[in-house]
Amino acid sequence: MPWNVEANPTDPEQAIAWFRARLPLPDPAYRALSEEARRRAFFVAGLAQLDLVQEALDALEAALAKGETFEQFKKRLSERVQRAWGGASAHRLRTIFDTNLQSAYGAGRWKAADELRQERPYWGLSVVLDGRTSRICLNLAGVVLPADHPFWDMHIPPLHYRCRTALVTYSAAQAEGRITQRPPEQPPLEGFGRPPGREAWSPQPRDYHPELWRAYLRALGQGMPDADGYLAGLVATRQPKPTDWMLAAGRVAVASFPERVERVKDPEVSKVLGPRAQRIAQKITKHAVLEGQFRPDVTPEEYLEALRLAAMHPEAAIVVQAAPRGASLLVIAPSEAAGEALGPNALPWLVVVYDLKYGTLVTGYQASSLEEVTLWPNHLWLRTNPRLS
Ligand SMILES: [Zn+2]
Repeated sequence: MPWNVEANPTDPEQAIAWFRARLPLPDPAYRALSEEARRRAFFVAGLAQLDLVQEALDALEAALAKGETFEQFKKRLSERVQRAWGGASAHRLRTIFDTNLQSAYGAGRWKAADELRQERPYWGLSVVLDGRTSRICLNLAGVVLPADHPFWDMHIPPLHYRCRTALVTYSAAQAEGRITQRPPEQPPLEGFGRPPGREAWSPQPRDYHPELWRAYLRALGQGMPDADGYLAGLVATRQPKPTDWMLAAGRVAVASFPERVERVKDPEVSKVLGPRAQRIAQKITKHAVLEGQFRPDVTPEEYLEALRLAAMHPEAAIVVQAAPRGASLLVIAPSEAAGEALGPNALPWLVVVYDLKYGTLVTGYQASSLEEVTLWPNHLWLRTNPRLS
């Protein structure tokens, strides 16, 4: 008799909050993260495209909110996701469904327990003992320990795939005589057991591990085929979605300069580079060598990385505008984003321009204030920074 994870109709909110506090990532991007950065990421093994991961996340959240069964959840998924998930492998899909719902409910129980620490200062593991109990949970059955015991840094259920163990709480009186003297040395399966964290969902980048935030933006920037056309269209419709600034930041975060050699228009730069040079060399000569905004010996790789980091800075302001030659994005971030690439004459703001028609970077320079930034009359702020007057 297979065990079913059914939605708990009395309290799906906490479980849904767990999903909402997660950033979806393609499988390879997730695997590249440090363990600390992974904590609030959502990924599905084998799903390498961000839109599919997002669909899976949305479907799981809907399954929770509506109290759906696995069969109903499966119907909700598009052909594309089912195919990418290994087509016929119902077992795999089932594991993903069960494990995610268990993690969400586990997080809900942890949060409730966390809020009751005063009244119920002891925690335990309630293990279902039957023929299908895992060896991990079998070894942990009956554990009762103070809520602040380090054991709980690594043993918050679920403890493995399709785990049925639940966190339970005890008052001091209930725990008396049952407290475990030496907790069993049984680790959970890798990737399980960590407390889910107190963070609620928020679109504020500062609330996420910087590595996770950057991986998410880069995945967004690579994940939508016509992102540039869509973003350019916002100048006309003036109806951005609340998350469009993230997509815009993601496009800049994965952008490069065009590689062809171009005419050098700036006479000062021309004196150094001659009449023709690659655009990135022209920008480095002007803003690093001549002006000292960036380190005079900054390499093209360091300069490019500094501009990408500006887009991924938690306080980056982002504008989409209709410039005479086509639509462009403007990122204005605190220049600290450039890190070691900053030069002796660094200015407070780092400005990055991205061409939405060609999908390439145009320039990256620094400015003292918004007055020094060229903004075309037809522009739309996707995200602002209050310090940018
Ligand atoms: Zn278990």
